Amino acid sequence: MAGITINHLYKRYGKDKQAVVKDFHLDIQDKEFLVFVGPSGCGKSTTLRMIAGLEDVSEGEIYIGDTLVNNLPPKDRDIAMVFQNYALYPNLSVYENIAFGLRLRKLPKHEIDLAVKRAARVLEIEPYLDRKPKHLSGGQRQRVALGRAIVRNPKVFLMDEPLSNLDAKLRVQMRTEIIKLHKALGVTFVYVTHDQVEAMTMGDRIVVMKDGIIQQADTPETIYRYPNNTFVASFIGSPQMNFIEGRIIESVPGKLEFSMSRFSLELPEDCAHILEKHKQVNRIVTLGIRPEDVHLEELYSDSIVTGLYKFSELMGADRFLHMDIGQDKPLVMRVQPQFHYQENEKVNIALDMTKALFFHRDTGVRFTE
Ligand code: ADP
Repeated sequence: MAGITINHLYKRYGKDKQAVVKDFHLDIQDKEFLVFVGPSGCGKSTTLRMIAGLEDVSEGEIYIGDTLVNNLPPKDRDIAMVFQNYALYPNLSVYENIAFGLRLRKLPKHEIDLAVKRAARVLEIEPYLDRKPKHLSGGQRQRVALGRAIVRNPKVFLMDEPLSNLDAKLRVQMRTEIIKLHKALGVTFVYVTHDQVEAMTMGDRIVVMKDGIIQQADTPETIYRYPNNTFVASFIGSPQMNFIEGRIIESVPGKLEFSMSRFSLELPEDCAHILEKHKQVNRIVTLGIRPEDVHLEELYSDSIVTGLYKFSELMGADRFLHMDIGQDKPLVMRVQPQFHYQENEKVNIALDMTKALFFHRDTGVRFTE
């Protein structure tokens, strides 16, 4: 059993020593399922590979349990790694693929047999143990790769985009399998993905990265509801959060409003308090509101704007309406599928201001208490 402590980790490449991972600082709890997520090139794999020992650390410390592992070779770190490319030996059976590492370690035959069968049972691949990888589906092959990792009995599982070679349906299925596996094994998982849905559905905690820097490390619920900045707010959630620029004005003494070109929305007291504290009165800020917090019903009588219906996307259970409210970008709202309109039809839109977030216009940082 082991948590991981990462202290002020840096990775620098090339002649100019450009840092691609910067001041990465994180405690990963024992048995936690932690997900690194962010756009391609943000440093997720590099960080994972430094934990695995496949990349040298330029600066900082990595502990697995109480052991400083900076200079330990991968095989001594008590970890197992699963990659996107599962790299099975094509001429070996599933059984032999799973047993391979144990044979190298010269474990007794009966121990190997027990370990392989136990892994096969957990992963439900017992019927395929005699098959060669080419006679397996993508999902089954990925399970064999997981089996190879499980039999090593590691303290920590490191996974780098393990599902990205699978088709969409299988990915969803394997997502559940990996969550089940984490529960069954009761060890620490660190999982890299660029897919925010995978991050949201799998992680106990998510680390959102950009340009080698942690933007936020929190539970999926907190990241979704209280993103630290506009980057996190837009990266997590689909369709993405709406951003609207407007000026904070004091309409009558003691009351603040968010004023756009054509509309003004009264701010709830707690928002007004935060924006006052950050001296944003008379300044332009960015309001963020998720599509599900914009409604057609006029429930929120103080926060109605009129939009022109542009188009919609039917997603089955939901419909996403795109409304022109005089901003650069349309306002997107998530509604029930039966609502749709004629192009350019005027529609009253209610913004649930209790769910609105406010961000610094230039830095994108969310204003907080
Ligand atoms: P991610 O996993 O988030 O897609 P990576 O960790 O693979 O990102 O890469 C982070 C950055 O480091 C990228 O800009 C990538 O080009 C750079 N990088 C990765 N490996 C090397 C290397 N061996 N030499 C130089 N730059 C590298």
